[in-house]
Amino acid sequence: MKLAILSRNAKLYSTQRLVQAARERGHVVRVLDPLRCYMKIAPGKFQINYKGKQLSGVEAVIPRIGASVTRYGTAVLRQFELMGTYTPNSSDAILRSRDKLRCHQLMAGEGIGLPTTVFGDNPDDTGDLLSLLGKPPHVIKLNEGSQGAGVILAERLSASRSVVEALRGLYANFLVQEFIAEADGADLRCFVVGDKVVAAMRRQAEPGEFRSNLHRGGQASKIKLSAAERETALHAARVVGLEIAGVDLLRSKKGPLVLEVNSSPGLEGIEGITGVDVAGAIIEHVARQAAVQAAAKAASGRRRSAGRPKARAGSKK
Ligand code: ADP
Repeated sequence: MKLAILSRNAKLYSTQRLVQAARERGHVVRVLDPLRCYMKIAPGKFQINYKGKQLSGVEAVIPRIGASVTRYGTAVLRQFELMGTYTPNSSDAILRSRDKLRCHQLMAGEGIGLPTTVFGDNPDDTGDLLSLLGKPPHVIKLNEGSQGAGVILAERLSASRSVVEALRGLYANFLVQEFIAEADGADLRCFVVGDKVVAAMRRQAEPGEFRSNLHRGGQASKIKLSAAERETALHAARVVGLEIAGVDLLRSKKGPLVLEVNSSPGLEGIEGITGVDVAGAIIEHVARQAAVQAAAKAASGRRRSAGRPKARAGSKK
C-alpha cells in the first residue's frame, strides 16, 4: 500500500510510530505536512501538489490534523477523498468531532449516555438555562477547547453565572454540563480502531484537580473495560463517523457517559501504559479497508462498463 500520513510534524511520537508500523508491514509511507499540500480544483478534476511535485497513486491517507489547522487540514483531506483515496477518518467526521455541541446532539440522538448538557445564546436566558441543569456544581466547557483547557468547574450558582457572563462577553461558544462527582476525577480513554477497542486506560486527576487530562498532570493506568463501556465507545465512534477514535468516558451511576470523541488520539500515552501496538493495529486496519475500497471501486467500474451498450460490428467508433 502507498500510504500518506497528514501531520505537521514528522518527529511527533504518534507520527513516527505510524511510519514505523507501516514500514514494518512493507508499506510505502510518506509524511505530508497538510499546510504544504496545495490543490487544483476543476470540474471532475482534482490534483494535489506537494513541494513542487504532483502527488499520485496515494491509496490511503491517515489524517493527524491538529485543532489549530482543522479548516485547511480537512480541505486537503477532502481533496484526497475526491481523488478516491481511502481515509479511516473522513473530513466530515473530523469536522463533526471538533464541535462538542454537535457531537453531543448526535450522540444524544442515538441514545448514547452523556452528561446532561445545556447551551443557549441570549444573556437574558442564563438564569433559566442553568436551572434546566439542576443544582451546581456545573462544568462549563468551551466548545472547541482541548486537553482540558477551557473546562471550568463552578461549585456555586453565582460562579456558574459569572463564568457564563464572562464567556458571553468574549463571544465564546460554550456548553454547560452537570458535574459527575462519582467519576472522582477519573476518566477512561478507549482507543477505537474499526470495530474494536484495541486499548484502554484510566486517567486519574492529580489531587485537587477534577480534569484527568495527562497534560494537566493526570496519571494513567491500564484498565479492563466492561462490555457496556466497550459498546458505548464503539457506538460513539460510529455515530461521529470515525474508524479511528479516542473516546473518553466517565463512569457514573447512570452507566458510561461519553465526554468526547477525539479524531487524532495520541499514541504515546496509550501505547506506553498498555503495551499494545496501537500503531500496528491502525496500519493493519487501514491496509485492509483500503483494499476493500479499491476492490469495490474496481467491481463498480466493471459493472459500469458491462452495462454500457456494446458498439455494433461495423459501426463507427
Ligand atoms: P477536553 O476536550 O478539553 O479534554 P473534556 O470534556 O474531556 O475536555 O474534559 C476534561 C476533563 O475534565 C475530563 O477528562 C474529565 O476528567 C473532566 N470532566 C469533564 N466533564 C466533566 C463532567 N461533566 N463531570 C465530571 N468531570 C468532567
